[in-house]
Amino acid sequence: MEDNPIRIYNSLTRRKEIFVPIRENCVDIYVCGMTVYDYCHLGHARVMVAFDSVVRYLRYRGYQVRYVRNITDIDDKIIKRANDIGESIQSLTTRFIEYMNEDLDALSIIKPDYEPRATEYIPEIVDMISRLVEKGYAYPADNGDVYYRTRMFENYGQLSGEKLDDLRVGARVEPDEEKEDPIDFVLWKHSKPDEPKWPSPWGDGRPGWHIECSAMSTSLLGNHFDIHGGGMDLLFPHHENEIAQSEGVSSGKFVNLWMHNGYLQINAEKMSKSLQNFLTIREVLEMDSDRIRIGEILRYVFLSSHYRSPLNYSDDSLDNARLALRRIYMSLYKAAESGTSSVTETDSRLCARFHAAMDDDFNTPDGLAVIFDCVRELNKSVESGLSERIDILRNTLLQLAGSLGLAQMEPSRFLGVGGISDDKNDGIGVLVKQRENARHERDFATADRIRDQLAQLGVEIEDRPNGTTVWRRT
Ligand SMILES: [Zn+2]
Repeated sequence: MEDNPIRIYNSLTRRKEIFVPIRENCVDIYVCGMTVYDYCHLGHARVMVAFDSVVRYLRYRGYQVRYVRNITDIDDKIIKRANDIGESIQSLTTRFIEYMNEDLDALSIIKPDYEPRATEYIPEIVDMISRLVEKGYAYPADNGDVYYRTRMFENYGQLSGEKLDDLRVGARVEPDEEKEDPIDFVLWKHSKPDEPKWPSPWGDGRPGWHIECSAMSTSLLGNHFDIHGGGMDLLFPHHENEIAQSEGVSSGKFVNLWMHNGYLQINAEKMSKSLQNFLTIREVLEMDSDRIRIGEILRYVFLSSHYRSPLNYSDDSLDNARLALRRIYMSLYKAAESGTSSVTETDSRLCARFHAAMDDDFNTPDGLAVIFDCVRELNKSVESGLSERIDILRNTLLQLAGSLGLAQMEPSRFLGVGGISDDKNDGIGVLVKQRENARHERDFATADRIRDQLAQLGVEIEDRPNGTTVWRRT
């Protein structure tokens, strides 16, 4: 491990902190995963890529990481969807877990070390609720529900900054709920007819959503662990409630560092089915004949923004990411032709700059800028025929990009057979079209800029008198 400490923004303290693991050189991390009743969308993809790159980078820096990502396989939405389409819950969740795995594989998301499912942890969940009841943090109601007595937990609101009195103003109690206080939340739900149920001291029922993450993280990582992550939308109430549950039971600190990734927008609006800007991962994967290639391109889209920044996805995002990755693969392709041997040496200056960027709260845009400096230096070395330098820079590029899960396929595969792709999806066709449109609108500055961009990619264009444009690889 190097001298520089890693600094991570902690949502709990609202500042960047030097990361000090609980056990030396080890990191235990829990990330809230998917509720499996539908296809994963781009918002899910962003969370998965964000924490995948965190885990990859920590491992690359020599930490032993235990990575837990749960699957919520019982909840209201799952029950409703199963009833709506007349499928058993078991069959529905199994099906969508398979789809999720296919999608995440295409994005090169590494498998977590543990992938607990809520339904596999019912005894642990019941045990945790029992202990909360014993300690007065929870109470069973007459209808068989068990609720968390929110006002009992002194530090409630520490993560989100929410105040109990403000929450009480907006809180409402559903007709079938029997809460002492509207801000209380459910830990155990009594069973309704035709719903899956498990036995408990309070009668047959099923767990509420928040309790599963407390029970599963404690079972696998202990009462106190290093990092808990998830999307920004989970900060309140899900993560606030997890703290109340876990610290209520243990009377000690639950998690040292809370990480949340920023929101994703599509065409500058919140992604929603009603706005018709809703995109599933598989809809994007279908945009290319090679799932792994388009998966990497999508991965690059996310990494090109800082994980905490809001990210706006548009049609251009994929094109730009494809072109950026082409530059990396083109450089590797040429280097492989010119290089002599594989080396283990890396360029210490480039590595140090890359680490400085990534050690600062996983700043992937700055890290990618260093990767492109490496690409430029590698291209120069290839032009000058400096074979030893080519090997070192090529190895550096593979290692740095690899720590972000990028540039892991054969360059010839990404670029297409023989190194140059004629695939219409490779971004060239899109650029040519964009230039044609610009010319049509007499926006010659843009047209010239795109012509230069194409020239850099080794594409020559020729405008015909009848207005059409032909292009060829040089
Ligand atoms: Zn969770």
